This record gives sequence, C-alpha cells and structure tokens, in this order.
Amino acid sequence: MNKLKQFWYKKQNSSHDLLDEIDQVLLLDNHEHKYSSRSINTRLFIRIYHWTCTHKILTQLITCIFIPVLLYIFLIMLSTNQAFIPKEFQENHHRLLLIAAHPDDECLFFSPTLRILQTQHHVNTSLLILSRGNHVGLGEIRARELHGSCRALNIPQERCISLDLSYMQDDPKIWWSEKQIIPLINEYIRLWSIDFVVSFDDYGISGHMNHRAIASAVRLLVQNKTNTMIKMSYELKSVSVLRKYSSLMDFYFVFLSFIPRLLHSFFSYIIPFNLISSPDVSRILLVNTPNDYMASRAAFASHQTQYNWDRHIYLIASRYMFINELKKIE
Ligand SMILES: [Zn+2]
Repeated sequence: MNKLKQFWYKKQNSSHDLLDEIDQVLLLDNHEHKYSSRSINTRLFIRIYHWTCTHKILTQLITCIFIPVLLYIFLIMLSTNQAFIPKEFQENHHRLLLIAAHPDDECLFFSPTLRILQTQHHVNTSLLILSRGNHVGLGEIRARELHGSCRALNIPQERCISLDLSYMQDDPKIWWSEKQIIPLINEYIRLWSIDFVVSFDDYGISGHMNHRAIASAVRLLVQNKTNTMIKMSYELKSVSVLRKYSSLMDFYFVFLSFIPRLLHSFFSYIIPFNLISSPDVSRILLVNTPNDYMASRAAFASHQTQYNWDRHIYLIASRYMFINELKKIE
C-alpha cells in the first residue's frame, strides 16, 4: 500500500520534480561512468524537450509569430542589399510594365513588386491587364474598380489599362494565343518606353490558364529578342499551396534560400568579391513594409465585386501580400 502511495505521489509531482529525477538518474550514471560531456548534452536535450512539451502554446507563439516577425523585420532592414536586388535598380530609374490577366491580379499577386520598386528604387510603374475579368458579366464594373486600385498603388491612370478584346476574355479553361498577346505587349512597350517587364511564371501562381498563357507569351517575346527595348525581364515565382497560404511563416523558407546570397554580399564588403564572381541578378526579393501592405489592402478594397469572405482570409494568409520573389527570364 505504501508503494502504491509513493507511486501516486510521484505521478502528482510537478514537472520540475520529474526533471530533477531525470537529472539524478543521469548524475548517478555519471558517477558510475565518470563525468562526460555526452551526459551533459543528454540532460540538456531532455530539459529542452521537456520544456517544449510543457510550454506548447508559448513554443507555438515563438515558432509561428515571434521568429517570422523577426525575420520579416530583418529582411525589411536589408531590403536594399544587393543580396536581394541588383545594384542596378539603385543606379537607374527603370520603366516597368506589369502584364497581368485580370483586374485584381496586380494587388493580389504583384503588390510587393509594384510598391517596393516604386517607393525604394524610383521605378516608373505601368500596368497592362489583358482582360476586364468579364467571366460572370462584371467586366465594365471591374474595369472601373481597377482605376481605384491603380490610385492606391500610385500607378498613373493613363498607364493603367485593361483591354476588352473578343478573342481574349476571362476564362480559366481557355488558353490565349501567344501570337495575339505578343503584339499587344509590344504596342504598350513602345507607347510607354518600357525597358523592364514583369509577369507570371509558367504556373501562373494559381494555375489559371490565362495567367499561364501570358507567361508563355512574355517568355517567347524575351527569348526571341525581337523587342530590343526590353533590357530586363522577370517572372513571379509560384510556390506550393502550403507555402502560398503560410503568410509570414514563409519567411523561414525565403530566409534559408537567400543565405548563400547574403553571405556572398557580406563578404563582398571585405574582399573585392566582384573581381571573382559578379553579383547574382537571377533573383530579386521584394518585401512589403507594413505601410506597403496596408496600401496593397487599400488597392484590393477598390475591387468591391471581388471582396468575398475568402478574400479576407487571403489578405492575411497569402505570402504574396508580403513577398514577391522574381526570377530572371533567361
Ligand atoms: Zn487573374
């Protein structure tokens, strides 16, 4: 009976008592096998594991909010570093043309590109939307809403265009012909003296057929080198659904993937690194500051017809409201 009481008493002991018991066992083990660093590590590991198990909520807060926010602040502070954006953007005032498929693509997917290049790198921004998003008959209203979005994103009204062409209507099942898209892009590049083009990549963020057709056309245009006005061309990187909706948590992946470039940039201040290897311009990372994020939300607020309940979640959960990773079109 006494043994049973002792057992019950031990079960009721606090977690600290339990840890002390583990320590005692390990210390006894030390006396027998002499003191070793291995046993210290084991104790430390057990203590950390135990602490993590007994402080689940705190651990989740640290992992899901505290560290991602720290990484977010760190990346904003280093946003102009050449690890994230080529120096060329600081030296020249480029003229950007963003080519998208539907009104609202500009703020749901590309807002860090539009905001950061404009506010931090003095890039002139222009927007060409190839349809009015008339899939359910709201084309005219959506074209008007787009102008509100451009105002919030500081894109001049005369360079904020949505087309309404019979052969290029909003439809997730229809592939737009590259042969018809390319002359339209060329026309606006000439009209607005564009030297820098940005659009979707081959998956088109959501897999929408219209997005993917534009990506294919831009790639063809760049690779054929028929338009000599284009000096730079980038596409917005698509990621898995899990990452797409991981909001600030995605900063873990982004930060890890940019570590080699950060180190390269850091050492280039000490050693004349550029003599050995030229800066990597194949990728650009653009991170919305809280101000830019709010401006992007204001831009989407103009798209009243699209403001459904799921969009409220999107504006918080989507990484594209905070981060754009651009890949150079080779
Ligand atoms: Zn779209």
